[in-house]
Parts: sequence; structure tokens; C-alpha cells
Amino acid sequence: MNAVTIPIRADAGCSDDVVTRERGQREVFCGLTGIIWLHRKIQDAFFLVVGSRTCAHLMQSAAGVMIFAQPRFGTAIIEERDLAGLADANEELDRVVARLLERRPDIRLLFLVGSCPSEVIKLDLSRAAQRLSGQYLPQVRVLNYSGSGIETTFTQGEDACLASLVPQMPTTEEASLLVVGTLADVVEDQFARLFQAMGLGPVHFFPPRRAGELPAVGPGTRMLLAQPFLADTARALESRGVQRIAAPFPLGVEGTLGWLRAAADAFDVPAARFDAATRTAHERAQAALQRLRPELEGRSVFFFPDSQLELPLARFLSREMGMRLIEVGTPYLHRAHLAHELAQLPAGTPLVEGQDVERQLDRCRAARPDLVVCGLGLANPLEAEGMTTKWSIELVFTPIQGFEQAADLAGLFARPLHRARLLAA
Ligand code: SF4
Repeated sequence: MNAVTIPIRADAGCSDDVVTRERGQREVFCGLTGIIWLHRKIQDAFFLVVGSRTCAHLMQSAAGVMIFAQPRFGTAIIEERDLAGLADANEELDRVVARLLERRPDIRLLFLVGSCPSEVIKLDLSRAAQRLSGQYLPQVRVLNYSGSGIETTFTQGEDACLASLVPQMPTTEEASLLVVGTLADVVEDQFARLFQAMGLGPVHFFPPRRAGELPAVGPGTRMLLAQPFLADTARALESRGVQRIAAPFPLGVEGTLGWLRAAADAFDVPAARFDAATRTAHERAQAALQRLRPELEGRSVFFFPDSQLELPLARFLSREMGMRLIEVGTPYLHRAHLAHELAQLPAGTPLVEGQDVERQLDRCRAARPDLVVCGLGLANPLEAEGMTTKWSIELVFTPIQGFEQAADLAGLFARPLHRARLLAA
């Protein structure tokens, strides 16, 4: 258990601030959780977790009570005899995959998702994926990535999944914009319309809705990150020659405007055309936020590290909703990707990278913030102590990006405060 305080880079624009780096017990979901939103996005993919009953239970509880006629994720259970090395887990896996693909001819892309148990028995899933791809191509492509709690937190599962897709993307010399990170279809459609109104294109979204529609990339591709947790994916795309457009993240009105403007500038969209394309949605979103601001203004908020969305959310809540930031924790801080966010946080905001959960709980209890944003595991105990919490997982499952969603995003924070006021009355 230790904590190190390091100055953040001066070019982040917030040079007086320091980031405390903590290493200790963590209280976060593993990367398997990402399957919940990824399987909704890539509609002909299937996610086969190679894991234990614990992994299967996590998937069920994270998915809630979702009954699918045709679920698009499942768990190949590694039994005790596999763990003891008494059975050939590869043969077992081949049998499970054969059964699955026979039953589900609609599957075009199969992800073998590694877990803690598959790592413990050192099951080589990349070899398994190659072997199975050889068997089932061209009908089904088989890829692998790790969602294990040893290697990933919560949103890093999406990063690992998308990074595994990058080598499969075709090559092009064409100039295009690639929006990277899973967005709800409704949000994606809104952004596509805004880019079209600016005359900016072609625009592709990654991941695509269908496995066969992977966009082509190359040195003419400029990428705009829609999510702040995609370090490996961005690196993999950069290795294909793709250039990243530096931008804030599209949370809140300011963030959305800055994100769209960064793309427009990179593609030389004239200012007048940009304003004409964005003005109506921008003004409507600003008015909607103003109606909610009194609910949040002056209230204090404490972020536990969970989704890596914490910095853009904190920037939104402080700058646009007038909330006071007590502490902003994040599991991992990518200083280049988050440079715009760091520059816009109020000077002196306590930033914590990593986690030592007991120490952080002590600080939270001492501060008694009006609202605590944290994972499910911490929310119940903190509520029992009389604190008001917001589950960070909801912020990943809900469409929150873009102008039309800015008020919904503010509403997600206003609702628990409103409920707490009613209970106290
Ligand atoms: Fe638990 Fe590891 Fe399975 Fe995640 S991958 S549910 S942390 S056993």
C-alpha cells in the first residue's frame, strides 16, 4: 500500500496541480463488463468468456435481468479438472465453439474472452483463436482478448476488444475521419448528421454495427476518440498510420462543441459552416442544461476511480453545472488523451490515479460530499452511512455523449440528490 505524488506535465495546462498515484486494494469491475455494451453494438458478434462460474455470475448481474431469445454472450466454464490440468482445456473449448456455431449460424465474429481462470491455467487463447479461425473462416472470424480482472479494469475490456480488431481493418490511402469508441446508435446517428451538415466526410465509426463493416484505415485517416479509455486501441491505430485529433471528450455542451470543432478544424471546415451546422443543437442543449443547473450548483462531488470517464465528467460538472470537486479518482490517467480535460479542471483539483480503497474511503468520509460517484461495491455501504451515491456503471450504459444527451447526463447526477432531499424532508 503506497501513495506517490507526482506533478502532472506542464503542457497539460494545469501545471500547479498534482496527481496522487495510489497503489493498494482496488474495488473495480473487471474488463468482462464491457461485453454488456459491446455485444449490443456489434450485432453479429458473440462474446465467449473462457472463465469460471464467477465470471458467468458477474455477466448475469452486470447485464441485469435481461432475457434474450438469442443471447450474444456466454461463458465456457473451466471446470476444476481443467484447473488441475487433468483435462485438455483446448479440446473442451473446440467442442463448445463447434456446438455454439452450429446452433448459431448468424455469428460472424467470435471473441474468445480471457478471464482470471484462463490466465491462471495459461490457456493460450490467441493460439486457440488462430486455430479456430483456420477452421471456420470465411464464415466466422475468431479473435481473442483479455477481460481478466488481473489485467483489466471495467472499461479496459472495450479497449482490449477494439485493439484486437485493429489488425483486421483493411488498408486505405483515402482521407477520412474515424470516430473511435462505442457509442449508442442514437448518439452515433446524431453525430453522423452533424458531420454531414458540416460537409465533413467520409466518417466511419469504430466499432461498426456489423463485423463485416470494419472501416479501412491508413495514413489519411484522422481519429477522434469518443471514449477516454482507449489507450491500446489508439496505439494500435497509430501503428497503422492513423493520426489522433487532440480534443476534449463529447460530454456536456462544452465538451461536445470542443470535440466537434477539433474534427472540423482538422478537416478545414469553414467557421461559418461549423456554426450553422451546430448552432441549433448547441443552443437547445445549453437551455436544457440551464434548467437543471440549480439542482447541482454549489453541491460537492467525490469520484472514486472506476470507468476512466471521471475527468471529463468532473470537468462537465464543475464548469457547466457549478459543482465543487472534492476529489477526482481515475484508475488510469492517459495524460496525452486527457490533456484538454486536465487543462479545463479548476486549478488545485485533487486528482488521484489508481486506488487504495481504504485510504480513499477515509478521505471521502472526512469530506462528507453531497454526492459520491463510485462502483456498485462501494455504493451500498456508503448509502448505509448516509451518503448519496451515483453508480458509475450507469454512466457507461446510458447514452450520455453529445448535445441531445447533455441534459440527460446532468439529470443522472441530479436525480440521486433530489431523492436524498425528498428522504430528508
Ligand atoms: Fe472475477 Fe476474474 Fe472472472 Fe472477472 S475475470 S469475473 S475478476 S474471475
